[in-house]
Amino acid sequence: VNAPSKRPDVVVVGAGPAGLLATERLEARGRRVLLLEAGPAAYSARTDERDPAWRYRVLGGASWWPRAHAVGGRANLWGGWLSRFGPEVFREGGWPYGARTLAPYYADAEAWLGASAAPLDERFARAARSLGVPIRPRVRASAPDGDHWTGAHCAAAAGARTGSVALRLELPAAGPAAVIVARDGAVERFEARAIVLAASAIETARLLLASGLRHRRIGRGLADHFNLSYILVEPNRPVDPDARRLPPAAFVPRFVNRGAATKRPYRGGYSVEIVGPLPLARLDEDVRALFSDQTPPDASFTFVNSLGEQWRAPGRYVDLAPRARDALGRPLPQIHLASSAAERRLVEDMKASCRNVAEAIASPGASLLRYRDPFVLPPVFHPAGTCAMGDDPGAPCDRWGRLRPAPSVWIADASAFPSAGDCHPTLTVLAHALRVVESVDQALGRPALGHRSLAPPTQGARGSRSVQPTAKPRA
Ligand SMILES: Cc1cc2nc3c(=O)[nH]c(=O)nc-3n(C[C@H](O)[C@H](O)[C@H](O)COP(=O)(O)OP(=O)(O)OC[C@H]3O[C@@H](n4cnc5c(N)ncnc54)[C@H](O)[C@@H]3O)c2cc1C
Repeated sequence: VNAPSKRPDVVVVGAGPAGLLATERLEARGRRVLLLEAGPAAYSARTDERDPAWRYRVLGGASWWPRAHAVGGRANLWGGWLSRFGPEVFREGGWPYGARTLAPYYADAEAWLGASAAPLDERFARAARSLGVPIRPRVRASAPDGDHWTGAHCAAAAGARTGSVALRLELPAAGPAAVIVARDGAVERFEARAIVLAASAIETARLLLASGLRHRRIGRGLADHFNLSYILVEPNRPVDPDARRLPPAAFVPRFVNRGAATKRPYRGGYSVEIVGPLPLARLDEDVRALFSDQTPPDASFTFVNSLGEQWRAPGRYVDLAPRARDALGRPLPQIHLASSAAERRLVEDMKASCRNVAEAIASPGASLLRYRDPFVLPPVFHPAGTCAMGDDPGAPCDRWGRLRPAPSVWIADASAFPSAGDCHPTLTVLAHALRVVESVDQALGRPALGHRSLAPPTQGARGSRSVQPTAKPRA
């Protein structure tokens, strides 16, 4: 076991958006931070599916799990859609606080992600009016140069210790906690006063379980989004050449189960996203192969997608395979899936809403293709909830993401969500990560003068902002 020469105050595991933000803000507060990332600095291709070090099992249904092991994490794959969870998500999902508590953190996370809203396309606005549903401009994350946000420009990205796979945590009753890491065939051990896990909901649960932490709710409570997509193909709608990079897009927030008039026979709700027209060439070859031979090559397409809320259920959880190991010797994570009749009704509603939206925006001669169906090989898309927060002492984490059975550990990713919400999650992940930073900072007390990051200097890093420490967590 190699030991590091200098002990960090905080080890952060995972350099996705949550780990990058937590690292940047802890460093701005004078903390010495070691950011561990399993993958390389730059994401190159989707090889994770076949990597023997990242095998997993799905039980109770067929599924696949899109991941990106590299600095930026799944922001290397994402669409950059940003939306805050509405007040009903916090209320119904058993969150320990409401939307108002998270509002200042949301605002901070939006600024960090360069959130900007495009003007609302009149075609989409008209369609929403005719259907009687709410609509908003798309809010999107962008890098400082206006490009797609992948995290590469973040101040903390350059300092991440890449190729470092956290294998387990040592959590002694007395003395410092430590992270055991595999890197280049060697095993390293990093002690720290605080450990922040930002490896994403399934990996974080796997790490905690592999560390021998016994808590009956760790790994349980897995929730995700049902995700479905339609493609509207329009032979008569040209693509505006000026809008090729940023096509018109809009967001339909949840409009069901918002009072007696919109009551549905399931819990929670769903949102709808519209983006297009885009040139057919932007679609993968195998998707284009699904089109009719009569589709002209200069036809355009518009995506109509929906994300629906999946609830925690006894049959949905993460645990470790009893015997099967991956190439690093780790027990495989097992993802147990289940669905209910009520969830099937939710998905039927999501499909109907997507079809209605598509019909309302379609031009003559258009055709509609169902592209992604949550009951036909769905992805494990936005896993959450495997180490949920709550004021209830039985909840694994407190409302600041601090792990009750191991108080030197904080959970900064969606594992800590009590529910999955009805729209894209990353803004909420980051708002939560900012709360984790406040809590860690308060627990560590006054920083030693002159302490800086363990990371090499991040010259040329753009888009980072430093924030003055606040004396106390806010709520
Ligand atoms: C195809 C796709 C599209 C998406 N589009 C959107 C969108 O438009 N809007 C939105 O809000 N969200 C979207 N998401 C979800 C979004 O990507 C995630 O919410 C976000 O990336 C979560 O950030 P994170 O830092 O918590 O986790 P991740 O981004 O998953 O990062 C976790 C990091 O931890 C590292 N790691 C894992 N295990 C270990 C270990 N043992 N040791 C060291 N490092 C480890 C990983 O390599 C990774 O870099 C999308 C997701 C996918 C898959």
